[in-house]
Amino acid sequence: MYTEDRKSLGKLRILLESNREYYCIFRQAAHASGTYICIEQTKTALGQHLLDLLESSKDMIGRIAEQYHGIDDYLTRDYTDFEKIQSYLLFIQKLYQELADTNIIWKSVLSNSPVFFHYHWYQFYSTREYLQDCAPVGETARQEHMRHHWDLTRRSILEEITLFDTIASFITSMGNAVAFCLDDSTFPEQKEMHPIKRSYLYQSLFDNHFMSNDSMKVALHLSERNPFPPGKTLTTNTETITPKKQLYQSTFSTKNYFNLFQNADSKTTYQRYLTDIDSQETELALTLDIETLEDVYTACMYSFFTLVSKGIHVRRCKRCGRYFSPYNRSDEIYCSKIWENGKRCRELYQEERLQSDDLTRYYRAAYKVQNAKKQRNLRNKPSSEKTFREWNQRAKAALEQAKNNEISFEEFKRIVDAKSESRA
Ligand SMILES: [Zn+2]
Repeated sequence: MYTEDRKSLGKLRILLESNREYYCIFRQAAHASGTYICIEQTKTALGQHLLDLLESSKDMIGRIAEQYHGIDDYLTRDYTDFEKIQSYLLFIQKLYQELADTNIIWKSVLSNSPVFFHYHWYQFYSTREYLQDCAPVGETARQEHMRHHWDLTRRSILEEITLFDTIASFITSMGNAVAFCLDDSTFPEQKEMHPIKRSYLYQSLFDNHFMSNDSMKVALHLSERNPFPPGKTLTTNTETITPKKQLYQSTFSTKNYFNLFQNADSKTTYQRYLTDIDSQETELALTLDIETLEDVYTACMYSFFTLVSKGIHVRRCKRCGRYFSPYNRSDEIYCSKIWENGKRCRELYQEERLQSDDLTRYYRAAYKVQNAKKQRNLRNKPSSEKTFREWNQRAKAALEQAKNNEISFEEFKRIVDAKSESRA
């Protein structure tokens, strides 16, 4: 099994002015390195990452938490039982992978799981991986390392099981909050009420802790709109910067602007800046660092906060039924998700409607033929009525299936036509 000893860093970058947000995943260039490379980036309307996370995890996260619980007895395994431990970890990895595939936020935090970090070292000693490039380790020391790292792995698993349970409940309650505070269709009588007021109602009625005293680390930026396209590197500061230190670092300008402009040299420099600034896409941005499972809470609460403060209403897409935050127009009725075939819901809806019209037309034509046949045969063949009814039942069912994309147009035709011939 492949385990990762490089960390990932997720950054949720929120641009309030343009109603956009970016989610970037950075991967550490090498173990313990301060350099990170952007490996993936998604750009959406404000709050869409939150809505997608809720939608994609609402059923899955509870199921995963449940499955995780189902294998508790493996935890009592002895550290020497490498085979069993490995199969257990493979099972957890499969669960994590399933969740990571649903959403970019899961993908970035799950790859930092302490479970796999500790297991990496357990495996390192169990399989004597060190022999590849290090000096051999004495047997007693090797056993000691294995025991130690399996203990850490086991403890992390227990912590994560509890955390998953909590997050599963949190996802459900966050979904309720979104519906109550941001979706006009849930309670049409509250339609005119601003999301801030609705949030206050939500807090008072359902959850006293909701949006109350949440502290989170947010970084402010004044920079270009998208400073981290995939491939761009980032160097992290290992020491935490306190506001006090930040204050000393910032040498605020105390220069006299008037004197500066009198100076001919400075004037030219200033002119150059003036010309450049027009072409520069500068924006105010807020960035949240997402590294651990707990940070998912931060990302959700912060996104929710920005949606509420900007009074953004969400609605369900007319085609796919997923919640979306309007990308351009506030009265948009389709989401902007790009599906695997590269198409968006607006386009797909039109296509599907046309196809549905074609299907209905085909069914009606066949119905006419069958009905005429029945009328003709009724005198000679008393069973014609029954045969026709049965055909119609099958054809109608196929029509529904075809409309729902459960069967292809060709398959639909085959069902409709084959029956009409065989019963003629
Ligand atoms: Zn949609």
